Amino acid sequence: MEGLFHEDLAALSDLDEQSLLESLSQRFKQDHIYTYIGDILVAINPFKYLPLYVKEVSERYKYHEKSKLPPHIFAVADRAYQSMMGRLATGPRNQCIVISGESGAGKTESTKLLLRQIMELCRANSQLEQQILQVNPLLEAFGNAQTVMNDNSSRFGKYIQLRFHNSSVIGAKINEYLLEKSRVVHQDEGERNFHIFYCMLAGISPEDKDMYGLLDPTQYRWVHLRKWGEKYSEVCNAMDMVGFQEQEKVDMMTILAGILSLGNIMFEPTETDVLRVTGKSMGWLKATAGQFGVQEEELLRSLTCTLSVTRGEAIRRLHNQQQAEDARDSIAKVAYGRVFGWIVSKVNELLAPNVDFDVELNEIGILDIFGFENFAVNRFEQLCINLANEQLQYFFNHHIFLMEQNEYKEEGIEWETISFKDNKPILVKRHNLLPPLITYSSTLIPPHHLQDFVDKLNSKFKSSPHYEVVRSHSPLFTVVHYAGKVQYNGGGFLEMNRDTIPASIRDLFINSVTPLLSVLFAATISRTGTLMPRKAKVGIHSLAVLMEKMFVASPHFVRCIKPNGNKLPDQVDNKRLRYNGLLETIRIRRDGFSWRPSFKEFAQRCVLLNIYEHCSNIVSHYGRSSRLFFKYWHQEELSRLLERMGKAALVIQKSEGSLSLNI
Ligand code: ADP
Ligand code: MG
Repeated sequence: MEGLFHEDLAALSDLDEQSLLESLSQRFKQDHIYTYIGDILVAINPFKYLPLYVKEVSERYKYHEKSKLPPHIFAVADRAYQSMMGRLATGPRNQCIVISGESGAGKTESTKLLLRQIMELCRANSQLEQQILQVNPLLEAFGNAQTVMNDNSSRFGKYIQLRFHNSSVIGAKINEYLLEKSRVVHQDEGERNFHIFYCMLAGISPEDKDMYGLLDPTQYRWVHLRKWGEKYSEVCNAMDMVGFQEQEKVDMMTILAGILSLGNIMFEPTETDVLRVTGKSMGWLKATAGQFGVQEEELLRSLTCTLSVTRGEAIRRLHNQQQAEDARDSIAKVAYGRVFGWIVSKVNELLAPNVDFDVELNEIGILDIFGFENFAVNRFEQLCINLANEQLQYFFNHHIFLMEQNEYKEEGIEWETISFKDNKPILVKRHNLLPPLITYSSTLIPPHHLQDFVDKLNSKFKSSPHYEVVRSHSPLFTVVHYAGKVQYNGGGFLEMNRDTIPASIRDLFINSVTPLLSVLFAATISRTGTLMPRKAKVGIHSLAVLMEKMFVASPHFVRCIKPNGNKLPDQVDNKRLRYNGLLETIRIRRDGFSWRPSFKEFAQRCVLLNIYEHCSNIVSHYGRSSRLFFKYWHQEELSRLLERMGKAALVIQKSEGSLSLNI
């Protein structure tokens, strides 16, 4: 019984930090990596194979009763699916599963397991199912990389929406967020470029290698040699299955080859101040131009000078060496980012539901975005990621704490308020750091004005509790996030957010003879993956849009925990389990009433004879109450009862100011 009891930490009687850590680590040592806190699933990464996901287990968790089986990620899939089908008496039909945790905690693996199990649950038609399941390896090849934290780290965030009509999946849509494009041109110690480059170089056939103009892997500055077996054929296979055409694949690979060649172009000054490419780089320039399908001289010109038109007059400004290298790097980043965006929009096109607009669809969304980051040098990308996490934490707080407690207040239920770290101020107007940062960062500020940039931030935010001024000769500033303080370097900001490239470069690519390249540069691809004629917004804005959508769906939370920093099995470092907020989460789940339908909603969902009338009487009797309050386990009990008996006997109790309903 002891072991079983601890499957749900919300049921712990003596609830303190020590017992929480003890339970989690004891369970983990017995390979019980999943634990509930009420209806939240905690998942600790085992870093080893466990026979938890085999066919038989997957079958067992279909339409199961939560309390009859140990905690499992498949149980979350089942709950989301059953709720979407309206089989559980619960809120909105649309579902969202939010997976959080630091890098390497197991978010992406959990996402894949959820997808797989949901496909099992709805017995998807095999072609669509295969297409949907193949999207992951495809996106991982282009969007994941080896980092110090995780050998297969997602360098973008994603929200996968599965669209259903009745019980069947009929399509899917991916939103991608904040791809870390800078990785194409720069990788810190112990980090690698995106997987696809290594896959391509290692797995490509000699004929294709010639066709794309690729040389030996050792020749490229932006990738360091690394073993990568048969992955390439898997990626190509995934593209075929999802439905990419041969020519599209060829174009895509040619652009990647072009990016690699571009990375080898080096510049040197001449006596006449004009910049030229080094002798060794001449071949690379030619190769790049060939792969990008543009004129060699024009490519050179767009790297070595900027053309601007002022009052009708064209002015040519020569680049210095640094500027030329920056131009080279931004072309690579923009090109890669657009290839990635294009892949996502193509996937969305191929997997779009083929139905009339007025058909009612339901949705299960799964959010897998990168966790909080704090590196030696934190740049604009880290700020975006951390602010995105800030939003996610707010979403979690909102659901778990605010909404629940506010409802108690409204209903006049006595409740000892549980305090939690509210991170709302960092996201709301007066202290909202983001808009000014984006505005400042996207204007091209010359390097010697960097300090001005940080000074501006300092004067604007110095009184904010979420901001700290750093006294330093470097352009540094600190943001106090909910998960800790992070020092950002303004130096990395300006170039990072420069998603735009000079018009001359854009024109160069629009005229490319490679159709895909010309399409990529002619249109702007929004972060949601659709081709849009207007300028793409910075990803974080679309994340805010997503949050709005999530606020009106039924949420499910999976909290992933990385048990140690060494990616090792059977090792658990208690410090890491002491995730802040876990304890409060347990308390509110234990003491709170997490299911709070209105009378009307309850009566409709449960189709109980006479209940609605009955409830209405109670409402008028007590006047102020408009809802019923249930413990999280009541929902399942009720569903079971309804299934068995078709109706249930309900006893409504009033005790000490609270109105609750016993089944
Ligand atoms: P995140 O997306 O949170 O950064 P991943 O999901 O990529 O982390 O997980 C990192 C690594 O941990 C995976 O590549 C895998 O080796 C291991 N891992 C994660 N979840 C599991 C699991 N349930 N079982 C076995 N290994 C896992
Ligand atoms: Mg990941």
